Amino acid sequence: MSGYDAVALFSGGLDSILAVRLVEEQGLKVQCLHFVSPFFGDVRQVSVWRERFGLDIDTVDVGEGMARLLAQRPAYGFGKALNPCVDCKILMLREAKARMASYGARCIISGEVLGQRPMSQRRDALHVILRDAGVKDILVRPLSAKLLPESDAERRGVIEREKLCGIWGRGRKEQLALAERFALPVIPPPAGGCKLTERENARRYWPVIVHAPNPAAAEFRLANSGRQFWSNAGEGPYWLCVGRQQSDNERLMRNAVPGDALFKLADFPGPLAVGRQFCDRRWPEDVLRDAASFVASFSPKAALHSGLVQVLAKLERHTLAFSVRPARETPCAWGERSWEAVREELRAAEQERQKR
Ligand code: SF4
Repeated sequence: MSGYDAVALFSGGLDSILAVRLVEEQGLKVQCLHFVSPFFGDVRQVSVWRERFGLDIDTVDVGEGMARLLAQRPAYGFGKALNPCVDCKILMLREAKARMASYGARCIISGEVLGQRPMSQRRDALHVILRDAGVKDILVRPLSAKLLPESDAERRGVIEREKLCGIWGRGRKEQLALAERFALPVIPPPAGGCKLTERENARRYWPVIVHAPNPAAAEFRLANSGRQFWSNAGEGPYWLCVGRQQSDNERLMRNAVPGDALFKLADFPGPLAVGRQFCDRRWPEDVLRDAASFVASFSPKAALHSGLVQVLAKLERHTLAFSVRPARETPCAWGERSWEAVREELRAAEQERQKR
């Protein structure tokens, strides 16, 4: 595994590829690290990138670290949705730094561009990231290097500063010219895509952060599947995920863990639903029955049926059968979070953070 000069944060986006090419051009051997979590990264693409761009790429799973970061709230706050970009970059750089020795690398490469993103690529944010990740002497940002203080790797001559770029801002012109110079076979989008930057996903994740005790990556993977309903009835909150289509049902099945309640209609086609029961909050039978009735309402055939329908709730050691009337309005009042509600709560959380 050793024999590399640098490790690179590699999202698969254009900027990360260009950053690697700029140092490879100087004769350096680069080991790319592709970070994966329930929020970003795509393990299936790694072999495609390896072949297409001729890169050495390893994956690094930071799912648990990201879950912890979100649960404990990021020190530098959230961006326009639920993206904790500054803290996230710090986490990735720490992970990269911890792996440098095993690859024999002397520096870290990242595709950040000064002024490109409002949260993590302002000059002050880039400095905070360097400092908190402990990579001041070893991080090189080849796309904007000439606009940034000289790194130790440049001073020591590991990398020639003159051959790096001075790109600033959100434009793509210079990156596209570089892509042409390096004859990239395809031009990927600027960045790798991150679910935390999308409001639709912020609606999914925020209730998990607020209500799940010590949420782990498994909770966020579950939140990625199907429709997400919460109820505050009784001793709640209770969390119910309902599949919208076959692929959701399969994903829910894959992401279910021992202890979950799995709902399925006995005699009608319909969705699979997962009720996550946290160990300190087992669902009482009236909540299970209520959820069964709610889940049945998502089966068009069951909803048209004039009588009661049977829903099976499979629990760890036994299966309960509930005869229920399909109903969207139930005493538990299952509901999805709106982005507006989440945004308000995020604002309040941000005010709290700034007071600390
Ligand atoms: S966009 Fe997502 S992956 Fe990128 S730094 Fe922000 S939180 Fe991390």
